[in-house]
Amino acid sequence: MTTISTDLSQSPPAGNSPSLIEKMALSKRQYEETGHYKGIDQLRLKQTDHFRYERVWAELRGALVSARETALHISASPIVRNIGELCFALYTPEGDSVVVSTGIITHVHTMSEGIKYMISQAYEDSPGIKEGDIFCNNDPTLGNVHTTDVHTIIPLFYEGELIGWAGGVAHQVDIGAGTPGHDPVASANRYEDGFYVTCEKVGSNHQLHKDWQIRAGLSTRTPVYWALDEKCRIAGCYIVKEALDRVIASEGIDYVRQFMDEAVEEGRQIFLARIKERLVPGIYETASFFDAPYADKAWHPEARIDYLMHAPLTLTIGAGGQFHMSMDGASAPVPMPFNASEGSMQGALWVLLTQTLIYDGKVNDGAYLAAGHNFPAGTWCNAQDHSLAYGSPWAFLIPSFTGLFRLLSRGYFARGFREEIVTGYGFTGDPLQGGGFLADGKTYFPVSNFELCAVGLGARGTMDGLDAAYAMWNPEADMGDAEVWETIESGLLYLSRRYKPDTAGYGRYRGGSGWEALRYVHGVQALQLYSFREGRVFHGGAGLYGGYPNSADYKVRVHNTNMAQLAAARKPYPLGEADPSDSELERLVQGEFLRTNEGMMFPEAFGDGDLFLSLFSGGPGYGDPLERDPQSVARDVLGHVYLPETAERAFGVVVRTSGDEMVVDEAATKTARENLRLRRSARAVSYEEFYARERELITTGQLSSPVRQMYQQSMHLSPSWAAKFKQFWNLPDTFSL
Ligand code: MN
Repeated sequence: MTTISTDLSQSPPAGNSPSLIEKMALSKRQYEETGHYKGIDQLRLKQTDHFRYERVWAELRGALVSARETALHISASPIVRNIGELCFALYTPEGDSVVVSTGIITHVHTMSEGIKYMISQAYEDSPGIKEGDIFCNNDPTLGNVHTTDVHTIIPLFYEGELIGWAGGVAHQVDIGAGTPGHDPVASANRYEDGFYVTCEKVGSNHQLHKDWQIRAGLSTRTPVYWALDEKCRIAGCYIVKEALDRVIASEGIDYVRQFMDEAVEEGRQIFLARIKERLVPGIYETASFFDAPYADKAWHPEARIDYLMHAPLTLTIGAGGQFHMSMDGASAPVPMPFNASEGSMQGALWVLLTQTLIYDGKVNDGAYLAAGHNFPAGTWCNAQDHSLAYGSPWAFLIPSFTGLFRLLSRGYFARGFREEIVTGYGFTGDPLQGGGFLADGKTYFPVSNFELCAVGLGARGTMDGLDAAYAMWNPEADMGDAEVWETIESGLLYLSRRYKPDTAGYGRYRGGSGWEALRYVHGVQALQLYSFREGRVFHGGAGLYGGYPNSADYKVRVHNTNMAQLAAARKPYPLGEADPSDSELERLVQGEFLRTNEGMMFPEAFGDGDLFLSLFSGGPGYGDPLERDPQSVARDVLGHVYLPETAERAFGVVVRTSGDEMVVDEAATKTARENLRLRRSARAVSYEEFYARERELITTGQLSSPVRQMYQQSMHLSPSWAAKFKQFWNLPDTFSL
């Protein structure tokens, strides 16, 4: 992160060995001068004894995965225990990751930024870095994503010398923010983000400090989950430490030191080789958006605006495998919890690259070093203002990185790697959050659902996207068991979980399907709930090569229902809303329906009998839907991925039920597809006509206020982006919106 200082004038600690500040500065200089991590141009250990090198890699990698699998059982939080929203990593003394576990590996790089911050601030002098110390960080302005992701970091020593770090991160059930939950929607500044821990020493002699435990215990609404998550992270770090000690005992300290450095350099080289193999050199461009309609909702006057986030993305691929990604032109920071720090953007870049380009290589910060990037300071994606709210940066970050999938996929297509194409992914949003008291008025229960960790993946270049099984930030996606969520969300029951028709983007290969969960409030004295997703834009772009976007969100909840009477009379109750135009909810339940065509819901009071429908995103599609195999469309209708009328309207496939089967009416399908093609050509305009029409909207100022404000911000923050915009639309230099 840009704020890290490597000022060598800081005094090194007593003794002969170089300070960590000096080591970090040297490593940085060696990389800048040679282009290789610590100047290592030859992978000597690998070349000398390849088998030994791979064995050490496998031992450490196995230990990291095992640390996660073992430690998560210490936690009581379903977010950690069932979803595995946890990961561990081993770092060099300078804070570069060498080996990582599975799980939410976005954080492998964010913890790296935390370590580098402690080094740059001369923590060796004060508060000191000693064997047995335990550090904690969750500050987004020091590399973390949001306060909810809490890091535990321990230094690793060999005969008194620091030889590395182990780190673990877990996403909390509650972080003591202005509203209960883990990803707030209503906060407007840092002081509502909850419990902040800014790279603090919280333990020594392998024990947590008592004063720290007291303070932490008082700082969130769910102290038991906090304490057990922390024990889980500490246990995992010590499993990593023991594994490293074992490898040192068998291979020797000199080998291990060299190995750690070489592994990072190898990670970097693998990345370059893969880019060269998979992508065509050139400049790739796209843009993504996310809407925050806050004008009629925000609690703070400054946040009462309807905002549209702009994430333009330029990817430059060099002939030698060079990679550079830029968000030049990004819109401004916001008085909402959606600001991102540079560290979180770097973490997201890293986690997506490890899924698309270097999934079979050595995954570590070598890839981070090889991936050049520009997240412009003073924009939402590198806000550089600690007073802003960073509670839910995912709202902007997740859409912004769909662009990376699209651009890489264009490169794969150009190179012929059709099977590597991924059109994008669903927005991991709309789980319920909040908290309440059971009917006794004393028992607090958190609503911190994380079943959003299983949305639709975009279509591939050769097959449909995964249904309800993807999260961009955790490659081990899992929605968790409904029964387990109910154990902590005690006043909120599940009535159903099922596929939500028409959430998957249409295409020759369709996007993965989204789904819905109907929740029922029962046995509470008080409860507040909120939820958010995109609602007025397609967060993941338009799909690729004729594919369509996945559907955006809408909101429906029902207050003061007659559910109790329905149950007493043993009458049918709803299981969701497969077809909003013929709503099962409205057919079966009476009550006060609140329905909006947007994704944002601020905290709202709920009572016994109330219903809330959570809608989870599908993924975008690939290719022309009129080219989709009709039999596949029939299977989609049978599997509740599409409604029958959607099959006809979007795919031109006419289906009818025959017993338990869904059969294609071949003749009607042929006619329907011909008609759709005729309708398309009747509506089609030339590019020139389209360009002229769009240009007129700009020159005559016919833009909605969020769109105008978005472009104004981008032009103001980036003269280079403004120049590009004016050039593309052939506007005079003096033009302004
Ligand atoms: Mn998190």
